[in-house]
Amino acid sequence: MTEANWARELARGAISENQLKENGWISQSEFEQMKAVKEELDIRVPQQFFKHIDNNVEEIAKQFIPSSNELIFLPEELSDPIGDEVWTPVKGVTHRYKDRILLKATYQCASYCRFCFRRYKVSDSNENLTQTQLSEAFNYIKNNPQIWEVILTGGDPLVLSSKRIRELLQPLQNISHVKVIRIHTRVLTVLPTRIDDDLINALNGSGKSVWIVAHINSAKEITPEAEASVSLLKKNQINLLSQSVFLKGVNDSCEALESLFRNLIILGIKPYYLHYPDLAQGTGHFRMSLEKAIEIYSSLRGRVSGICLPQLMIDIPGGHGKVPADKAWIKCLGDGKWEFTSPLDQSTIKISYPN
Ligand SMILES: *Cc1c(COP(=O)(O)O)cnc(C)c1O
Ligand code: SF4
Repeated sequence: MTEANWARELARGAISENQLKENGWISQSEFEQMKAVKEELDIRVPQQFFKHIDNNVEEIAKQFIPSSNELIFLPEELSDPIGDEVWTPVKGVTHRYKDRILLKATYQCASYCRFCFRRYKVSDSNENLTQTQLSEAFNYIKNNPQIWEVILTGGDPLVLSSKRIRELLQPLQNISHVKVIRIHTRVLTVLPTRIDDDLINALNGSGKSVWIVAHINSAKEITPEAEASVSLLKKNQINLLSQSVFLKGVNDSCEALESLFRNLIILGIKPYYLHYPDLAQGTGHFRMSLEKAIEIYSSLRGRVSGICLPQLMIDIPGGHGKVPADKAWIKCLGDGKWEFTSPLDQSTIKISYPN
């Protein structure tokens, strides 16, 4: 089979730091710091998608253009903020909740988001699973009958070829206790041509209930190309949810969120989670205070149809699980300190978030 268009588009190359400097996106002094920035997280934006940034869309640019701010590590930040490593029984698997696991076959993405919560591994090709490691992961799933759902994440599983995706899904077909396959991906907006018939055949051939959770942070990311990729998925009965990260300078206003969520619902994508940014190293310039996040989010209730509203979620640092930002789970102790109840064992955890 000839190489798919999307693969060629990705291979043709992402923007380089030279191009960023020539276009005035980064200054000479920032350019000199790019080597250190890239050691934390590589730079990649597909050329096609970069055109939208080049149209001077701040909400998109801020997410993908690297910044020397990424070299500023705050004391409260952690390399593995959500504690993936604490719950890793075999390489590439995170098993934190009984009925579902994360399977991370690749840590590559079509585009690297500068706020990435898994930036300590993402973009590092040494972290991709080998065939042997994948077999170990499938054995683990087979031997743990409580696993009802397998969540393909990473990295972005949809940068793998459709052939590799078939190879990932095929062993799951024979594991009867796995009923649901969920795929977390960013390609709907950053590489929409990735949604093609070959991929849809691979997904629909899995024999499981397939859910795609699209990572989309701004209504301005929803280009006509992205809309076409959504239509193709809807036409083929793939279930669609979205997750967004609540980011300073991108979507930190009532109006920005309203526009994003309304547009998603019109397209037939149910907004699922809005994540308060994790305490990943070098991402402080994206974080507003938790009080501010709750205030903006709360102003949407009543103003916007209930079907538009995702849940505002916080992943408790250290691997204690995700909870909604409401009184049943979190308590403000003042001075940037918060108390959380873990959904895993109901224990209480105190965490400081910067104000
Ligand atoms: C976020 C996450 C999940 C999925 O959680 P849902 O609340 O079901 O969306 C599963 N496992 C791990 C380790 C996670 O971090
Ligand atoms: S697509 Fe996801 S995993 Fe990849 S860089 Fe963005 S946030 Fe990180």
